[in-house]
Amino acid sequence: MAEFTMELNDEQKEVRDWLHGFAADVIRPAAAEWDEREETPWPVIQEAAKVGIYSLDFYAQQYFDPTGLGIPMAMEELFWGDAGIALSIVGTGLAAVGVLANGTEEQIGTWIPQMYGDPADVKVAAFCSSEPDAGSDVAAMRTRAVYDEAKDEWVINGTKTWATNGGIANVHVVVAVVDPDLGSKGHASFIVPPGTPGLAQGQKFKKHGIRASHTAEVILDNVRVPGSCLLGGKQKLDERLARARERARAGGGERVKNAAMATFEASRPAVGAMAVGTARAAYEVALDYAKTREQFGRPIIDNQGVAFQLADMRTQIDAARLLVWRASWMAVNGRPFTAAEGSMSKLYASETAKTVTAQAVQILGGNGYTREYPVERMHRDSAIYTIFEGTSEIQRLVIARTLSGMPIR
Ligand SMILES: Cc1cc2nc3c(=O)[nH]c(=O)nc-3n(C[C@H](O)[C@H](O)[C@H](O)COP(=O)(O)OP(=O)(O)OC[C@H]3O[C@@H](n4cnc5c(N)ncnc54)[C@H](O)[C@@H]3O)c2cc1C
Repeated sequence: MAEFTMELNDEQKEVRDWLHGFAADVIRPAAAEWDEREETPWPVIQEAAKVGIYSLDFYAQQYFDPTGLGIPMAMEELFWGDAGIALSIVGTGLAAVGVLANGTEEQIGTWIPQMYGDPADVKVAAFCSSEPDAGSDVAAMRTRAVYDEAKDEWVINGTKTWATNGGIANVHVVVAVVDPDLGSKGHASFIVPPGTPGLAQGQKFKKHGIRASHTAEVILDNVRVPGSCLLGGKQKLDERLARARERARAGGGERVKNAAMATFEASRPAVGAMAVGTARAAYEVALDYAKTREQFGRPIIDNQGVAFQLADMRTQIDAARLLVWRASWMAVNGRPFTAAEGSMSKLYASETAKTVTAQAVQILGGNGYTREYPVERMHRDSAIYTIFEGTSEIQRLVIARTLSGMPIR
């Protein structure tokens, strides 16, 4: 087990500086344009692929870094550049992790390369779980997958929503109900290969922030996929469902629930790190501005009212990063999340990003309210962190339940 450290080692510093250079030289200068266009920034993704940032290898390397700091450091730097573009670059990772977590070696080898494409022809992937009536309440999912034994095919019907890269993805990973009596334990994940008939993009959402990232509905109308597209395979699914039915009969189910919770706790710090990146970016702009903007014959930072805001902003950002790094280290080293430390890190970092970017707009005054300065965009972007991957209210529920052991609602 790696000791917890707050110091990046030389190799990590090198990667951080390389990512920071890409964020500063390629992502940040393109941010305003793609925010206005509200389109996937394919040329930037392609640049990231050329230098090796948009690839499974890169993420796997960071993910398996035993200090746990690889992923948070990478996320913070890319999202420091711009949240919308960075999400376009890392969004495929969400689908890839779905396959890595549940897929067989053959499925991993077949589908993950098709999710990324190659630098000459980049592709993206989408992870489709949320539905119009199943957001925070995942168990309310209605998309149904039925097995056609005669053809060894699964037939999927339903409507997914809020899918990052939905409809433009080469590969879609779709979560569907296979046994409606088992609630969320009756769900399974499927690969929908490129060009499968019946899968179509529904409405593309016009969003408040992260506008360079494509978000859309995905309609599944009698989508037929081969049996080999069930992640993990039929035998594993049948065994899992049998265990869940047995536990339901015995009135249990805690162990399965705990395993799912551990997965969420492990992935949430990454979203916290994205939020730290956006918060740090806005804080830096505000600090520079406060030192140079003069009113009443002196820089505005000379006023305690402004200087104290900056002191609070930096304190909250550093506190958020420490929570994120702690949770990430715990995840990589298999430490039990006895106080829902993953949820804590996501909750605190995402709320910090909203507060800090709002303060940055205030410190820039009228300029902060215009698109001439980046803090206006960062403030809009920051609102996503308290919503996706579990809202702040859901994080508080998870923390409160973990601390109390009570079924708090
Ligand atoms: C830009 C964007 C990208 C996304 N990308 C993806 C993606 O790639 N794949 C995917 O599957 N999903 C994705 N999502 C979906 C996202 O995870 C959901 O929006 C989120 O889980 C919240 O669900 P909801 O929007 O239905 O809100 P709801 O669940 O309807 O919540 C509405 C409000 O009620 C509150 N609330 C709900 N239940 C409780 C409770 N028990 N106690 C207290 N408060 C409660 C919530 O906190 C929230 O404030 C994305 C969403 C957005 C906006």
